[in-house]
Amino acid sequence: MKTVYGLSEDVLARIRRHAEGTEGLATKVMKCHYCEHKAITVYEDSRGHVRAKCKKCGMEGIYNVVLRRGGAVSYRRCLS
Ligand SMILES: [Zn+2]
Repeated sequence: MKTVYGLSEDVLARIRRHAEGTEGLATKVMKCHYCEHKAITVYEDSRGHVRAKCKKCGMEGIYNVVLRRGGAVSYRRCLS
């Protein structure tokens, strides 16, 4: 993770708390509906719908994490 200076201990603790348990989880990249740019990365324990704004085209999309093309589960294992 990138080192960010000048953050308070509270903020750092919150960041760590949210990232807890993601170590070793597989991830899946969900592409923007509009431009196919990488919209969000979800972890294998993610379920349900998420809403994300694409950094490239700026469009907001709703993504169903459990919905996959062909119905196959295709998470990629983290190497780090
Ligand atoms: Zn986009």
